[in-house]
Amino acid sequence: MKSLSGAGASPGVAAATINVIGHERPEVPTPDDPASALADATAAVAAELTELSGTASKRGQSEAAGVLEAQSLMAQDPMIVDTVVEHLDAGASFNDALNKTSDHLTEMFRAIPDPYLAARADDVGEVIDRICWRLSGQPMPDAVSLTEPAILCARLLTAAETALLDPELVAGFATEEGGPTSHVSIIARSMGVPAVVGVTGLLSGAESGLSAVLDGSTGEVVVDPDEATAADFAERARREEQARLSMQKYRGVAVSFGDEPMTVCANVGSASDVERAVAQGADGIGLMRTEFLYMDRLEPPTEDEQVEIYIGALSAFNHTVTIRTFDIGGDKPAKFMNMDTEENPFLGVRGVRTYEAYPKLLRTQLRALLRASVHGKLAIMVPMIATPAEAASVKATLEQLAVELVDEGHEIGPFEFGVMIEVPSAALLAEQMAPIVDFFSIGTNDLTQYTMAADRMNTALEHLHDPLHPAVLALCRLTAEAGRRHGKSVSVCGLAAADPLAATLFAEMGIDKLSVAAPSVNLIKSTIAELDVDQVRAGAAEVVAAGDVDEIRRSTLNTLIDS
Ligand code: PEP
Ligand code: MG
Repeated sequence: MKSLSGAGASPGVAAATINVIGHERPEVPTPDDPASALADATAAVAAELTELSGTASKRGQSEAAGVLEAQSLMAQDPMIVDTVVEHLDAGASFNDALNKTSDHLTEMFRAIPDPYLAARADDVGEVIDRICWRLSGQPMPDAVSLTEPAILCARLLTAAETALLDPELVAGFATEEGGPTSHVSIIARSMGVPAVVGVTGLLSGAESGLSAVLDGSTGEVVVDPDEATAADFAERARREEQARLSMQKYRGVAVSFGDEPMTVCANVGSASDVERAVAQGADGIGLMRTEFLYMDRLEPPTEDEQVEIYIGALSAFNHTVTIRTFDIGGDKPAKFMNMDTEENPFLGVRGVRTYEAYPKLLRTQLRALLRASVHGKLAIMVPMIATPAEAASVKATLEQLAVELVDEGHEIGPFEFGVMIEVPSAALLAEQMAPIVDFFSIGTNDLTQYTMAADRMNTALEHLHDPLHPAVLALCRLTAEAGRRHGKSVSVCGLAAADPLAATLFAEMGIDKLSVAAPSVNLIKSTIAELDVDQVRAGAAEVVAAGDVDEIRRSTLNTLIDS
């Protein structure tokens, strides 16, 4: 038995056989007829990739589908076979010819000055990996072709890989790298797959075929558990299932904190997330992360393509659907933007800061949103706002586009305009920002990293990256108070909204909306509905006076939640 620990990234308990995902290439034996073996392998890989692309698209993962389809076309391109043959003719062994082809083609792509094409280097490398596995006669240990339930262990899973995981077969996953607010963790939470990230020593302890248990709330991972440990985790799973069933009574029920209604919405990043949000009875969408539509693509999505996606989300609810304009940058670079050069991408050109350099991208998205607005209750939200001027500038563009679209004969419905509060300067200037917007939404993931100067991806700084830090809570309170003074709604859509203690604190501050991953909607509804409001108010002073996170976690309020 080996006990490991990391950061809980998606709640839930899992017990299953380990499947280690590595992308190394196998040793390929020389076939009798290399040319025909290659032709068969490339054709089979192309077909496999097309099938995976179809699966992704059926699950509403259109971005991942696009990447896989492009890879299928690469597999069919004679460039791969021709390069292998050239190396064979020059005297290389079959295995060496394949490795040299991979090096040669990835380097060739990387050297292309056009960032669109340079970004395909990894894709071509992955296609050749698949061809090698096919030629070796062994199944490729990837995350997407599972046939039985497993706990996946990997150094890191890409966002596209995570998006393709089949929640029916992935019992849970553990990675050596990544933090709980990284985008892979966000996807895991929205799919309801238990996950632990930043597990030091995972790959030296985990082996395919061994059994494991993990707890996505506590961050524990145990490889080859003894009987008592396995029984302990089975009991946790049973209690969790019981709690999940009892929370179902809040499904679709409106809840309030005292006399103040509390809206509990879902965060989504894809069409399949929207379905899950509807299934959990969420009070609408509090955050739709649209940057996933742009990642892993050669070209940004067109206006018409976006209109269709936004209409899909808007028409799924009678409630407000909050769609955030693209937040590209940080750990979400777009392949068609040349962003690899920034030293500190989280402090660089990200979110609203990209809009000046890419005005057409912004215009296309805003036009698509406005065209979709007649199909539901739309709220448009802008990420990474640091100053009131940035908010005013996007609002002005939106107003100008609305006039343009009406002139073109389009119908436009009413919509709200708001900003994310995730940079400390925006929280400090919430008073001045309030007249410009209809609502604020606090992004605690970034507000924490920028307030504490602690990179959200750096697992060594997890202790600082805590949204319950009094410094972060003070900025949330400032924002809530400014919103209340101006009669503007204030929500929280960062990960902290799904933590019952943080949700209670937000309710006490006067925040009126919480937006969480779909599987957590009813946990938060039940938390808010079952609070003793007088006791929460009485315990608030103690929290406001706290100087560190431990004091907050030890406070009367926490005892109240725990009981
Ligand atoms: C946040 O920063 O809290 C947030 C919700 O945005 P993202 O996690 O997409 O940066
Ligand atoms: Mg953010």
